[in-house]
Parts: sequence; structure tokens; C-alpha cells
Amino acid sequence: MKVFVIDQARCNGCHGCQLACKDEHCGNDWMPYQKAQPETGHFWMKVEQTTHGQTPKVKVEYKPIMCMHCDDPKCMLDDAVVKRDDGLVMIDPTKAEGRRDIMDACPYGVIYWNDEFNLPQKCDGCAHLVDAGEIPRCVDMCIPEAIRFGEEEDFAEEIAQATQIIPEDGCRPRVYYLNAPGLFIGGEVWDPIDDEIIKGAVATLTGADGFEQKVESDHWGDFWFRNLVAGSYHLKIEKDGYKSEEREIELDKSLNIGDFPLMRTLRL
Ligand code: SF4
Ligand code: SF4
Repeated sequence: MKVFVIDQARCNGCHGCQLACKDEHCGNDWMPYQKAQPETGHFWMKVEQTTHGQTPKVKVEYKPIMCMHCDDPKCMLDDAVVKRDDGLVMIDPTKAEGRRDIMDACPYGVIYWNDEFNLPQKCDGCAHLVDAGEIPRCVDMCIPEAIRFGEEEDFAEEIAQATQIIPEDGCRPRVYYLNAPGLFIGGEVWDPIDDEIIKGAVATLTGADGFEQKVESDHWGDFWFRNLVAGSYHLKIEKDGYKSEEREIELDKSLNIGDFPLMRTLRL
């Protein structure tokens, strides 16, 4: 059974996969697999971009989204949608004509309506290529190999560490995501008397279940805690010759907690 494994740490947001999907399907009739994708309005592969944090401490996350080729596909209301033996979920372009209910049934919103053919359409894993011994175009196009496709057993190690997008009513998706970015806390340390940033201040973050992470402010005075989970944290910032600063933080989204002016304990 085939799976897609998407490594978000490798994805640079180039949108090449999205364009490759268009190139493969727009204006190309791959019957009996798939009728042509319209020139506009459809994103069978879509690179979602989310900005985390607040200016100037922001990070951008890229996440390619497509049909999840679920093992329990909510779109499979009857034989107009087929789950193939290799795991790919296909909308039958003949039987599904006029079937808006198929589009509405997908909890991921990855099915699009084709007005010209009166048909629901979505990613079919480039089944016409897979059956010819090739790989989906999005996978072939991805230069940093952020999207990979193949047999489930060959990806066992990655799958064990992966996360999935799972809707409330299940679906058992066959698309796995690696290195989904966690939350971050960023801040800056500076000396208000000298009006200079402070490099090498030690920031210690403690949280539930004995969590502790230490980082140092860099040559911009910035400190970053990464891959955090939501929760309550205590932050302490220390630097020799300065009074320490402490703050309680409730983290439910990535946070720029601003600047920390540290006061000297002793002027030399
Ligand atoms: Fe990311 Fe690869 Fe798609 Fe580019 S082609 S957006 S790197 S998944
Ligand atoms: Fe069907 Fe939606 Fe699952 Fe794709 S993601 S198989 S369209 S329910």
C-alpha cells in the first residue's frame, strides 16, 4: 500500500509541487483515470503558508495539502469513489458526474468542483503515472525531496515519527508529515544604559513535567526556544553583572515576548 511522506523541514515553499500538478493535469485528459483539471480554481496539491509569531520574530510554515487517500474515505459514499488495492482513492469520472455530495463529504476540503464537466475532482496520486511504473508529478518535481511516495513498509521508520491531519470523525489518512514545526518563544535582551544588546545572556524556560530548556542570547541579543507545546512556562534570564528577569508565559501560539532590558548590578 502506497503512502505519501512529507517532510516540512525540507519544504522551502517553492510551490513547485503545486505547479507540477497543474502542468500534469490542466488541459490533459487522462481518462479513464481523470478528466482535465480546469485552468483556474483547483488546487489538487496546495502549499499552505502559515506565519507564526509577531513582527519582527516570525517564522513561516509551509505545508503541502492534498487528498489524504484515506483508508476510511468519507468521500466514498458508493461506487463512484474507489479505494484501489495500492491505497489510492479515485473518483470515477463517469459515475461521479453531477455528484456534489461527494465533494461535500470530504472533511479535508480537498475536492473541487469542475463546472465544465459537472464533476468533483481531486488528487488521484497521478494514478496514470503510478500504473506506468512512475511516481506522482509533485514528488518528481520536489527538488529537496520534501514529498516522497512509496510502499508503506519502506517508510516504517519515518511513519513511526510522523504526524497526520486527522479530522474529528477519523478517516485514517495515508499522508504523513514529518517535522511539523512546534510553537516558539522569541525575545531580546539589552542594556538600557549602554543602549546595546546583550550577547550570551542565559534564558531558562521551565514547564510542566520537569521540562527545562536553556538557550543563550545571540549576537543580535535574540533568544529562541523552539518546538514547544502549548502550556504554562516560567522564563528566567540571567547574565553576570545584571539583575535577572523572570516572567510567566501562557503559550497557545508562537510568541514574540518582546525585549528584556537588564539592569546592571554594578557599574565598572
Ligand atoms: Fe515544498 Fe517540495 Fe512543494 Fe517546493 S515542491 S513547495 S519544496 S513540497
Ligand atoms: Fe476522500 Fe477527502 Fe480522504 Fe481524499 S482526503 S480520500 S477526498 S475523504
